[in-house]
Amino acid sequence: MRIMTWHGGDKFRLDHVPDPSAEPGKVVVRMDSIGVCGTDVHITQGLFPSIPPKVLGHEGSGVIVEVGDGVDQSRLGERVVLNTTSHCGNCSACTTWSESRCENADCTSGMFAEYATAPSQSAVKIPDSLDLEQAALSEPASCCLSGAEMMRIDDTEIGVVVGGGIMGLFTLAFLKRRGVERMVMSEPVKARREMAKQFGADLLHDPTEGDLTEFVKDHNGGYGANIAAEVVGQPKLVAKCVEVVRPRGQVLMIGVSPEGAPLPVDMYDLHYREVTLKGAFGRGDVFARTPAEIDQINLDGVISGRYELQDVPQAIVDSGDGKGVKFLIKPNG
Ligand SMILES: [Zn+2]
Ligand SMILES: [Zn+2]
Repeated sequence: MRIMTWHGGDKFRLDHVPDPSAEPGKVVVRMDSIGVCGTDVHITQGLFPSIPPKVLGHEGSGVIVEVGDGVDQSRLGERVVLNTTSHCGNCSACTTWSESRCENADCTSGMFAEYATAPSQSAVKIPDSLDLEQAALSEPASCCLSGAEMMRIDDTEIGVVVGGGIMGLFTLAFLKRRGVERMVMSEPVKARREMAKQFGADLLHDPTEGDLTEFVKDHNGGYGANIAAEVVGQPKLVAKCVEVVRPRGQVLMIGVSPEGAPLPVDMYDLHYREVTLKGAFGRGDVFARTPAEIDQINLDGVISGRYELQDVPQAIVDSGDGKGVKFLIKPNG
């Protein structure tokens, strides 16, 4: 089979390796679609730690074509999305933190390839109504679902999402579906703002046109938001979210702020207004539920481009340019 191997910096090489076979407890998946993630972009820019040579790609869907000993033969032909790690359910991380941090995790192979191998548990069946391309959005969506489920929602009138990339769109959709009455999308790019409507946005804010805090107060009887989610990864926007929430408001940090960045907020203000800050990094315990959740969202137009396996480097460049919402690699055409 063909695999695309990353060799550091922006260097990639298309390699030919023997087809994988399924070890006990594992499955082989013929890959249909793999999303290009901001993390892949950051790895090639040296902004996210990773050691080459390595096969990147961690947001993939496909069909099970081989099962190892101990895996039910009936899984052959099943349409699945791949979780990047398995979980034991017994360790300290599984029982006190989240299954995606399992101390005994077994990893799925890099997915920019014609086939990937994964523990049977990590190959999650998708609903019949969800197509494989949209199913590939499950991994990023699961991080947003996990974050949205950390928030207290009772009597929540208004929520704000700062940043209208794929993660911001999903965060908005899940907060709305959990019961926030009205959701605001704050995003400078018009096409992304418009797309937020189909994810459930009630109000669209353009930060180049006016101040977000004023905008929210104007639409909420002079009060701030109950919830504000930062989904960009800029400390100054986290500070904006702290400003935009009302007393006892909750700020969700899904964007990846730079390592070592201090929080540019007034600590007295956090204390006095009793504001909660929540970090949200990964898939938590929700990955297996995510395909059914995203099947409830109108995902038309979210896939901005499709690339063959040899064009992974170009797809990563285009993804980093912020031209589209989500780019997919199609290793098998
Ligand atoms: Zn990702
Ligand atoms: Zn565990």
